[in-house]
Amino acid sequence: MQRFELQAVSQHIQRIILPCGVCVYLVQGTNGAVLLDTGFGIGDLRGFVESLITTPYHVWLSHGHLDHAGGSAQFEEVFLSQADFALEKQHNTWQRRYDEIISGPDGAPAGFTAQDLQPGRAAPYSPLKANSVLKLGGAQVQAIPVPGHTAGMQVFLIPEDRVAIFGDACGEMTLLAKEILPTYVAALRHLQVYQDQFDTVLRNHGTFWSDKRILQDNLELAEDIIAGRDAAAPLKMMGVSGLSGRPQEHPGKYGNIFYTAARNVCW
Ligand SMILES: [Zn+2]
Repeated sequence: MQRFELQAVSQHIQRIILPCGVCVYLVQGTNGAVLLDTGFGIGDLRGFVESLITTPYHVWLSHGHLDHAGGSAQFEEVFLSQADFALEKQHNTWQRRYDEIISGPDGAPAGFTAQDLQPGRAAPYSPLKANSVLKLGGAQVQAIPVPGHTAGMQVFLIPEDRVAIFGDACGEMTLLAKEILPTYVAALRHLQVYQDQFDTVLRNHGTFWSDKRILQDNLELAEDIIAGRDAAAPLKMMGVSGLSGRPQEHPGKYGNIFYTAARNVCW
């Protein structure tokens, strides 16, 4: 069964589309590479990555959720923000990944069995420090903290390709706990400091891409929610009740925010 599909994105970046509508990114320089995220952990991602790369490589995670950290057990050293260590432990178990895959919106991929799912990671993570820069030769990757979706959420900036990989930090439906919104607003303002260094915004779900204006639009929406000026449309996502900041259709504005009063919602 074909598990992985490869797409060229830019000079140094390739996208690997994994089962369940999730993708990860591989950045290749002349003397190093980095795998950004590991998906749910279905199939032999490590073997696939090593068939592509020409240099030693690192593995960095955008955050600790099971659809990003799920394949991390295959790799010896994996970097993750320390702020997501506890979340990852709670969220990224084998059973939880299995259940999520089986009950996901598209169901399990054809032919999927328990043997296809990598084990949970037993080894500790290495802390991915804020603003870490990885020089790969001809390209570099910078980790910019954007706490909100999780406390340790990182956006990856590849200035040579004018690309920012937003991950789940800012998307078509950004999932947040309401109490984190002031922190999120500050984080998006900080991300705007870098906005002259990228034109393309990539993500790991859906269309895998967003218009760059999503950053400003999400910032304004987050401010509106804090001020009580948003649509506050009731919505249930993954069994959790909350509100969406914009109505489902929101022409002229990019992105939306689903927020909930629950403190420990784990998505
Ligand atoms: Zn996530």
